[in-house]
Amino acid sequence: MDISPDSRRIEQLERENRLLKQGMRQADRMRRLWEDALTELKRAKATLEQRNQQLSSLYRVASTIIRTRDIDQLLSELLDVMAEALPETGSGPVGVFLVEPDGAMRLAAERGGSEEFIAAHEGMRVGDCLCGRVAKEGAEAVLVNDCTSDPRCTLRHPAGEGQAHLTLSMRAKEQVVGVFFCYLPAGYRIEQAQLDTFSAIANQFGLAIQNARLFAEVQEQSIRDPLTGLGNRRLMEAQLAAGMENASRYQTALSIVMLDIDHFKAYNDTYGHPEGDKLLMQLAAILRNELRAADQAFRYGGEEFLVLLPHTDLAGAQVVAERIRKAVEAHTPVTVSLGVASYTDGDSLDGLVAAADNALYGAKRQGRNRVLCRLDELSAG
Ligand code: GH3
Ligand code: MG
Ligand code: MG
Repeated sequence: MDISPDSRRIEQLERENRLLKQGMRQADRMRRLWEDALTELKRAKATLEQRNQQLSSLYRVASTIIRTRDIDQLLSELLDVMAEALPETGSGPVGVFLVEPDGAMRLAAERGGSEEFIAAHEGMRVGDCLCGRVAKEGAEAVLVNDCTSDPRCTLRHPAGEGQAHLTLSMRAKEQVVGVFFCYLPAGYRIEQAQLDTFSAIANQFGLAIQNARLFAEVQEQSIRDPLTGLGNRRLMEAQLAAGMENASRYQTALSIVMLDIDHFKAYNDTYGHPEGDKLLMQLAAILRNELRAADQAFRYGGEEFLVLLPHTDLAGAQVVAERIRKAVEAHTPVTVSLGVASYTDGDSLDGLVAAADNALYGAKRQGRNRVLCRLDELSAG
C-alpha cells in the first residue's frame, strides 16, 4: 500500500502527540508527588517548630526553677509559660490552686478572673469541683470539653459557661502540691504529646514549689528557737545589725533590753526541766504581748532573752522593761532582772549587747527583780 507523505506526517504527529500526552501525565504525577512531599515537609516543619517551642518552654522552666525559691514568682512564671504554649486561653481565668497541708485548695495565683470568680473559689477543698478532684485523684491532665454539661465541674460560674477546661496536676514525687487550670474554647482539642509536655512542665513546677517550701522551712528553723518560737541569736544579730545601721543613718534612737530569769536553776531543780520549759514558753508569750509590732523579742541563750526596740530611747526602753518586769511578776511564779542599753553612734554590736548585759548583772547584784540601765550612761546622767 502506498502511503502518502501527508499520512506519514499525520502518523508521526499523532505519535509525537501521544508521547507528549504521556510526558504530560508523567509530569502531572511528578507534580502531585512533589506537592504531597511539600505538604508533608510543611507538616513536619510545623511539628518540629511546635516541639521546638515546647522544648524551649521546658528549658525556660528548668532555668527558672534553678534560679528561684520564691513561690509567687514560680507561679507567675508557670502562668507565663502556659500562656505562651496555649494562646487560646484568651481572656478567661487562668491560675493555680496550691494544696495546703490542711486540705484547703488555695487560689495562690490567678489572672483574668473576676472578683466573683475569686470569691466563688474561696474555701475550696481537695475533692471539690474539677481542680479538687484532680488534686485528690492525682490525674496528670484532664481536659473537659464543656464545663456547663460536665458533671465533674460542680462549681458553676459565668467564666466557665460553654468553655473547655484544662487542669494539670503539679506533682512532687507522688504528692499533688497544686493544680493549674485554664479555660479554652468549647471542644478545644489538644494532642496527647502536647498534654504530656504540659504535664511535664506542671510537674517541674510542683517539684520546685515543694523545694521552695522545704527551703523556707529549713531557713525558718535556722533562725527560730523551736521551744518558744521566738527568733534565735542568729536572727537577733542580723536584725540588730540592720537596726543599728538604720539608727546611725537616720539618726534615730534604738534600744535593747536584756532579760534573765532570777534563780531559774532553783526553779528547774524544784519543779523539773519540763516545767522550766513551760515557763520559758510563758515568758515568750508575755514578751509578745507586751511589745509593739515594730519591737522584736529573741531567745538569746538558755534563759536569757533580748528585746530590740527601734525608735526608742533609753527612757522609753526603761518603761518597756519595767512593764515586762511587772507582767512577769504578776503572771508567773518567777521574777526577771533586766538590763537596758541605747545605741549611740560608734557602738559595735557586741559592745551594745555587752552594755545591756553589764546593766543586767548590775540588776542581779542589786538584788534581782529590777531594771537597770546602761551603767556608763547612768553615771554620766
Ligand atoms: P540568776 O538569778 O543569777 O540568773 O540565777 P539562775 O539560776 O537563773 O542562773 P544560772 O545561770 O545559774 O542558771 C540558769 C539556768 O537556766 C540553768 C539551766 O538549767 C536553765 N536553763 C537554761 N536553758 C534552759 C532550757 O531550755 N530549759 C530549761 N528548763 N532550763 C534551762
Ligand atoms: Mg543566765
Ligand atoms: Mg538566771
